[in-house]
Amino acid sequence: MSYKIPLMPSTTSRSFLPVIFILFFAQPVCAQIRIETGFEGGNARVLQINNRLNLVKITSELKAGEKHPVAILCRISGFDRKRPLKVVLPVIDRLYIPFSAFYSVDAVRWEKTPATIGKRTAEYLVPTEGQRVYFSTHYPYRYSDLENYLRKIAVNEKVGISDLDMLETGIRVPMVRIAGVNHEQQYAAWIIARQHAFESNPSFVVEGLIDKLLSGDPEMEQLIGKTVFYIVPMMDVKAVIEGRAGKDQEPGDFNRDWNRVSAWSAITAFRGKMRSESKKYRANAFIDIHNPWPGNKDACINYLAFSLYSSGSQRGRNLDLFLSTLNGICGFDICIRPMFDSKGKTSIHWVNEEIDALDFAFILEVGFLKRPDGRDWDTLGYRELGGSMVNAFRGCLGNR
Ligand SMILES: [Zn+2]
Repeated sequence: MSYKIPLMPSTTSRSFLPVIFILFFAQPVCAQIRIETGFEGGNARVLQINNRLNLVKITSELKAGEKHPVAILCRISGFDRKRPLKVVLPVIDRLYIPFSAFYSVDAVRWEKTPATIGKRTAEYLVPTEGQRVYFSTHYPYRYSDLENYLRKIAVNEKVGISDLDMLETGIRVPMVRIAGVNHEQQYAAWIIARQHAFESNPSFVVEGLIDKLLSGDPEMEQLIGKTVFYIVPMMDVKAVIEGRAGKDQEPGDFNRDWNRVSAWSAITAFRGKMRSESKKYRANAFIDIHNPWPGNKDACINYLAFSLYSSGSQRGRNLDLFLSTLNGICGFDICIRPMFDSKGKTSIHWVNEEIDALDFAFILEVGFLKRPDGRDWDTLGYRELGGSMVNAFRGCLGNR
């Protein structure tokens, strides 16, 4: 049942009083649910609103030739606050369906709500504590979150932030350089994230990694005295701002487009930078951080390194050393799988072929389900992993 509440008259006469009385008491039943996406990163296509059942059915809007309806972030209001809100997603592909979705009253602190997954739909019960609630299929980490974070670290003398690339809209793709001052660094470590815009877990790994590097710990001072860190926290800024998935987009998937000529200027700019800086500092590592599809059940994919190397090769041994050091620090082991076949060149293919002095490169996947130690992944866990990764650099290669 739903009907439009008539406009209130400007002067209340005696004859309107029964109407007011009815409207006042009828309000909870006649809730008018609204779904909004007109903000940074917002994305939802409304399939159904059922005020009586306090239910909304939504999917992701496929903007700009997107192929995967996997990025949802919206604000819902007007629901009946006396019972939970039901958010329903159609099951187009099980891989798109998160085992838990995320909700927030203030779009700052996010909680998880588990899915009840059927054949055709998945349902999430969202508590209705405020007048409105944000719903998302991932932990949101928007471009403005990155810019706010960069403003905080920019005051540190060890940090240099430059524009790797500039979008047509004048929005920059930032690159962060971290190095100890008054040191003669010999090495460089290269880290990139968000080649696939919807994959937000890596953004928290990156913050944890940078926070650890800037912690002032003597071991970290020693590390950045020897090694310069170049970090691009968000490669596909445009798709992140537009709330798109990014994966398999036109004119090319970011991480299948590291061919000789790339359609994406951020890739071209990154490659130019890595080539030129590698003449000054020996590139000892390149890591490209991703997360899997939110509905991927494979336990391994939740914490995985994709490797190009056979274990007998020098780069294979270097990567083994890094990952075994990381395992020791974390107290649980990463899965290692051979790199998948892809139509176009991925970042690690390009780096591996073009950067002669490279010690190792790999793709890291950080998922949503349990870590190997049984704890659920969450934003704290992602940040801790970033800290452990830079600690692992200390035991390896030129940093020993
Ligand atoms: Zn990815």
